[in-house]
Amino acid sequence: MKEVLEQLHETIEESASPARLMAVSKNHPYEAIEEAYELGERLFGENRVQEIESKFPAKKDRPSDLELHLIGHLQSNKVKKAVPLVDSIDSVDSLKLLRAINKKSAEIGCIMNILLEYNTSGDANKTGFSSYESIKETVIESKELSNVRINGLMTIGPLGGSEEEVREAFLSLKDMRNKLEKDCDIELKELSMGMSGDYQIALECESTMIRVGTKIFGARDYSKK
Ligand SMILES: *Cc1c(COP(=O)(O)O)cnc(C)c1O
Repeated sequence: MKEVLEQLHETIEESASPARLMAVSKNHPYEAIEEAYELGERLFGENRVQEIESKFPAKKDRPSDLELHLIGHLQSNKVKKAVPLVDSIDSVDSLKLLRAINKKSAEIGCIMNILLEYNTSGDANKTGFSSYESIKETVIESKELSNVRINGLMTIGPLGGSEEEVREAFLSLKDMRNKLEKDCDIELKELSMGMSGDYQIALECESTMIRVGTKIFGARDYSKK
């Protein structure tokens, strides 16, 4: 793991974008997270609320500089559980969900960090906003919600897409971010894009956060679940 992490940080440093590395630890035990933490990683991503709940200690019992983001689809009925467990929800894909997160965050007295997920590949099986108008409406409405803070956008590149298709998806997310900043008069710093298979392309497209799982932790064994 040490060598892979060093190599990843080197690639990031050599690239044009000052991206952060998110270690995606889903389907790996907490010991793997501790190992990465010992090696200097501070930003982690998980995709299921249930798994976070059973795997991680409560927030107050984690190292205070460990930052955990939820990156998987969040159902409205899991919002209450999710909000106290994470530092950011990067997969918000509707205004309704954002409102529910705002409500729960107000209840427990926190301001939740948010990324809005956009479906850049147009794949109907994928989650995320699917039109500019819907994401714009959400950004505008969010200004009335005082317990959420929208920091930027997230996307999953077209899986199995050609390099050109992946690049096109990432560039379209960047364009959308720029357009939203203008149209909504808001700063959207973060562009979370790039996974084990396409992070190099994402870095070339000015990703600010690459989400790498398999390359760091190895293949996921789903048979145990
Ligand atoms: C699992 C996952 C990743 C990491 O994928 P790898 O291919 O293992 O690097 C990144 N983003 C999301 C949203 C994921 O669910």
